[in-house]
Amino acid sequence: MLSNSLIEQDRAHLVHPVASWRGHEQSGVRLLKSAKGATVTDAQGHQLLDGFAGLWCVNAGYGQESVIEAATKQLRELPYATGYFSLGSEPAARLAARLAERAPGDLDHVYFTLGGSDAVDSTVRFARYYWNARGMPEKDQFISVQQGYHGSSTVGAGLTALPAFHAGFGLPFDWQHKITSHYAYRNPVGNDPQAIIDASVAELRAKIEQIGGAGRVAAFYVEPIQGSGGVLVPPKGWMAAMRAVCTELDILFIADEVITGFGRTGPLFACEEDGIVPDMMTTAKGLTSGYVPMGAVFLSDRIYQTIADGAGAAAVGHGYTYSAHPVSAAVGLAVLDLYEDGLLANGTKMGARLMAGLHGLSDHPLVGDVRGRGMLAAIELVIDKQNKTPLPAAAAPATRVFERAWQNGLIVRAFAQGVIGYAPPLCCTEAEIDAIVERTRLTLDQTL
Ligand code: PLP
Repeated sequence: MLSNSLIEQDRAHLVHPVASWRGHEQSGVRLLKSAKGATVTDAQGHQLLDGFAGLWCVNAGYGQESVIEAATKQLRELPYATGYFSLGSEPAARLAARLAERAPGDLDHVYFTLGGSDAVDSTVRFARYYWNARGMPEKDQFISVQQGYHGSSTVGAGLTALPAFHAGFGLPFDWQHKITSHYAYRNPVGNDPQAIIDASVAELRAKIEQIGGAGRVAAFYVEPIQGSGGVLVPPKGWMAAMRAVCTELDILFIADEVITGFGRTGPLFACEEDGIVPDMMTTAKGLTSGYVPMGAVFLSDRIYQTIADGAGAAAVGHGYTYSAHPVSAAVGLAVLDLYEDGLLANGTKMGARLMAGLHGLSDHPLVGDVRGRGMLAAIELVIDKQNKTPLPAAAAPATRVFERAWQNGLIVRAFAQGVIGYAPPLCCTEAEIDAIVERTRLTLDQTL
């Protein structure tokens, strides 16, 4: 039987993703009711600036009429068409073609999924298929980076290197390996960019040797900026250096752009700024700006042709009922129009303003580090700047900041390690960016 109030119903019956189930029973849910632009309104009518674009996904901002119209029109015309076999729909074909045209290099083939986790899963399957098709089935080991996040499906969670996604689950993989993150603020080799790049290259090479040589390694996974690990930006040149090792050793380089794609860091894809072309690229979130679920894997022409030749007349047996969903594709097209008609340019401008504003908080006694690129940023809180001493875990600093920020009309992301994350919608105005920074300062003053 359902309880009376909505809060009670939620508490009793809705199992929340990535939440403390017991904690949720105590605290209950914060219900959001409506949103427009960069502002959301909760069930009590309290208005908040969404400094995190939902879950770093509502890049276009809320309530975009052209997106709503595109979805509605598609729902009326053809709400579902399978992408299985050789069936399909007009919006899916159009979106794939437009994405292929905009993607870096020869990432000309697009495989649609429902979100980021299954996009990552798909790349693992495609990588295995690719090496099998090339007659190298022993290339079945995968490497990713500590503090990386690649989703929450069983395979993706294995590539993910955040403790909460492993603890207690007993993931059954011994074919997934990790190297140290480039995390500059707390790097054992110091914060010199070249030293960090050299250390990562050396560790990747050593890891490959330890696994049994390049003949055993299928792929290396990176996020152009590590998101859930605390917005960790690699030094300029890090991506290119890691790409070069993979190219030299014939190991697939897979860029996970689920967060960084679709203008989050400035250009449509972060890889463009890094000057690299991955073998496969995963995206989701900004692809449909969170209005409806969708992800996409981009495959290089070489990967696509090898798999296609390997399968010949047989089906490549990988797919989801909702792959290439026509409503999601229609939304994707409308969102892409917005990016191209000014949102990317505005995001780039506002990103510079956000970074400048957050750097202005460096004088605050709690702010140890400010980092980011474009509309993707974080501040790291410490109690002692000299020694970079983290705030005591028992004080749950990030959670306190999150609560206070909420009361001050701002939504941020509080990471466990005392890091506050920002990923506002790209449609933000100058006044909204300034308000995000001002409300952060007020919040930090109240947290002291
Ligand atoms: N990869 C990265 C880099 C992500 O940040 C995320 C989600 O935040 C995922 C994959 C998983 O995406 P989803 O939550 O849509 O399954």
